[in-house]
Amino acid sequence: MDPRGTKRGAGNLEVAEPRNKLPRPAPSLPTDPALYSGPFPFYRRPSELGCFSLDAQRQYHGDARALRYYSPPPTNGPGPNFDLRDGYPDRYQPRDEEIREGLDHLLRWLLEHQGQLEGGPGWLAGAIVTWRGHLTKLLTTPYERQEGWQFAASRFQGTLYLSEVETPAARAQRLARPPLLRELMYMGYKFEQYMCADKPGGSPDPSGEVNTNVAFCSVLRSRLGNHPLLFSGEVDCTDPQAPSTQPPACYVELKTSKEMHSPSQWRSFYRHKLLKWWAQSFLPGVPKVVAGFRNPEGFVCSLKTFPTMEMFENVRNDRDGWNPSVCMNFCAAFLSFAQNTVVQDDPRLIHLFSWEPSGPVTVSVHRDAPYAFLPMWYVEAMSQDLPSPPKTPSPRD
Ligand code: GDP
Ligand code: MG
Repeated sequence: MDPRGTKRGAGNLEVAEPRNKLPRPAPSLPTDPALYSGPFPFYRRPSELGCFSLDAQRQYHGDARALRYYSPPPTNGPGPNFDLRDGYPDRYQPRDEEIREGLDHLLRWLLEHQGQLEGGPGWLAGAIVTWRGHLTKLLTTPYERQEGWQFAASRFQGTLYLSEVETPAARAQRLARPPLLRELMYMGYKFEQYMCADKPGGSPDPSGEVNTNVAFCSVLRSRLGNHPLLFSGEVDCTDPQAPSTQPPACYVELKTSKEMHSPSQWRSFYRHKLLKWWAQSFLPGVPKVVAGFRNPEGFVCSLKTFPTMEMFENVRNDRDGWNPSVCMNFCAAFLSFAQNTVVQDDPRLIHLFSWEPSGPVTVSVHRDAPYAFLPMWYVEAMSQDLPSPPKTPSPRD
């Protein structure tokens, strides 16, 4: 799974062609699915290390106060009839998307828990730290035909940090987001409000505001191949009735999608949407996604549960389907590529990995603004809390 060739190949190359005479090609990583269709790589069962919450003012709290409880309508009753447009736009408090948070909330959690991390001394120094959403983008890259991405990477005290950079195209699209798309985004959050209660055993209250500053984030540990991972992802709710009460097995992801009427609509849903749903929930070990299907008037009239581990079955026999092995092998190859590219340990040095559909991943190197993303408060605190270096006896001791 190393498209840059084996060690032996590289060795032969050096004997035949003296290094200083050849212009070294800029390293890049191909993304064609055919290159990554090996066996499924090792992926450690994700375990939850902790969590944090962001409140209505987007303030951090090192607890689960923003966690909500899965509370679907009774199955014996009339079935759902959720008006997803209710409250738009007067009861909508959308998060300010101009504020670039980078990894900040996750870094605060890490700073407050670095002394208590499992995995033994030095585990963090060998790990990759990022958001779950960033890993989701990597997983789906071999199949993505629309949107490119950029990830900034810095190595600090051994750890490789990955933080997404909004591409100029993505920024332009966000600023020109059509009103209908804005309302669709609201409807996704409104669905969560219809399906969740603030307390276990409580009932949803759709009369309140939808405030997308509020978030509950789980912090997880896993490993892909030989890459230890520490990442955080926003979790929609926990199911008090789940067979396992232990996170992440009790977590539920909520989604909305257009009502489907024809087999070709279902096929397209399995090929495109289910890939994204699978990648997002598989990474943190969230076992199920509950979908609300909305009609053209914006009402959810049916619900369907998609167990994460069964999603692939819908495309297993589809020539134009996706393959979890390709997603995970590509992600592992990208993480190896990044680990081998970002050699210098320096929080102000940034390797920017850029990708556009149909091309390879390329790299450029930068220092400080605008790409540096590890905040000074983090770098300074982590530098002070280093275990003190062993004292060497000095002549005056
Ligand atoms: P997701 O999987 O794409 O939803 O992203 P994560 O679960 O990894 O979320 C990581 C952090 O990014 C959390 O603090 C989220 O509240 C925040 N977040 C989620 N989606 C977006 C988004 O579209 N834009 C921005 N700026 N932040 C987001
Ligand atoms: Mg959701």
